[in-house]
Amino acid sequence: MNATDEVIELCRDLLRIDTTNTGDLDTSAGERAAAEYVAEKLAEVGLQPEIQESAPGRASVVARFEGEDPSRDALLIHGHLDVVPADASEWSVHPFSGEVKDGYLWGRGAVDMKDFDAMVLALVRQMRREGRKPPRDVVLAFVADEEAGSTYGAQFLVDRFPQYFEGVTEAVGEVGGFSVSVSSQQRLYLIETAQKGIDWLRIHAKGRPGHGSMINDDNAVTALAEAVARIGRHRFPIVMTPTVRAFLEQVSQILDIELDLDDPEAAVGKIGPIAMIIGATLRNTANPTRLAAGYKDNVIPGRASATIDCRTLPGQSELFEQQLRDLVGPDIDLEYIHRQPGLETTFDGALVEAMSAALRAEDPGALPVPYMLSGGTDAKQFDKLGIRCFGFSPLRLPDDLNFGALFHGIDERVPVEGLQFGVRVLDRFLQQS
Ligand SMILES: [Zn+2]
Repeated sequence: MNATDEVIELCRDLLRIDTTNTGDLDTSAGERAAAEYVAEKLAEVGLQPEIQESAPGRASVVARFEGEDPSRDALLIHGHLDVVPADASEWSVHPFSGEVKDGYLWGRGAVDMKDFDAMVLALVRQMRREGRKPPRDVVLAFVADEEAGSTYGAQFLVDRFPQYFEGVTEAVGEVGGFSVSVSSQQRLYLIETAQKGIDWLRIHAKGRPGHGSMINDDNAVTALAEAVARIGRHRFPIVMTPTVRAFLEQVSQILDIELDLDDPEAAVGKIGPIAMIIGATLRNTANPTRLAAGYKDNVIPGRASATIDCRTLPGQSELFEQQLRDLVGPDIDLEYIHRQPGLETTFDGALVEAMSAALRAEDPGALPVPYMLSGGTDAKQFDKLGIRCFGFSPLRLPDDLNFGALFHGIDERVPVEGLQFGVRVLDRFLQQS
């Protein structure tokens, strides 16, 4: 079977394996079954996949596909096998049915990211059947736990089995390479060259505990509320990173929008649905997400705390911490509960050329541009090994599809033709990589 046919079957099979990751070890299941499925498909074509479990059921698969010249640096292709939960009552089809309908393959994970897992599997299987090799070694990693912070998946592999990634200098993975239509003739393809950092903080206020009927001018809840409001209403200054600058310069030219680099928000407002993502990459952000204080209606507690979800631009984490301290003042304590730095690489070199050329060959109207993801992926883990990471999971999308809304969304689905396009692009890319 051809890779462009098999990709549909493989993706459908993967969607039917419920790999919901709740973030809780007791209720997350399915990754083991998915890993065994992937391993079997790789073993069938003579590769030697290894399954590693970080905890019972939390399984990842790694295999090395030897290239024409194994002395060259290797390329990592990575995807995660877990998905976020889906409530079947909200969907028009069952989220784990893998139904094909209206030209789409439906199911939780259809774009995040069993689509890419299936494309890679289909392509590798076809290459092996045809006796074709990639120009250099390709390490294939299909991992658990991306959706809950990578601890039991990519992080576990990087920390415990770095030997799998020996010689790897570059990687491609999720959230890049998808199209955004400019017109029926032209499509931007957003290649991810940067990611914001994730800084989850708990802030603590202390005060004088006491009876709720008394006058208390040192109330921890009041102090915390003031700090939370200051953070929530604050806009951190715009910092133009090389990636965002390159994106805006190229896109404003393509769309014929005036770009003022001192006030880029006006231009961002005119770029359509992707403005949400791009707008969040102009500055550091801090959003209060949780509050905790008190245990009784008439008791003033001595402590109060809040969680702040902060996303920092590459290289800005320390500066941001200082900005936040200045904002809340000396009486509020900051505690990091999760901290992962941002990433940024340049949009140049042979690998970027290979991506761009492959996209243009399959879509003459392709305009590849670099962009920064406002969230995070497993790339943050592989970056720790000094690997240069890109988001390149090619998909050509219909003009009117709101792709961003499908990620973790209701009725997640991937266009069948998009999947097949992705396989062809990946094939060309890999040949030139
Ligand atoms: Zn994902």
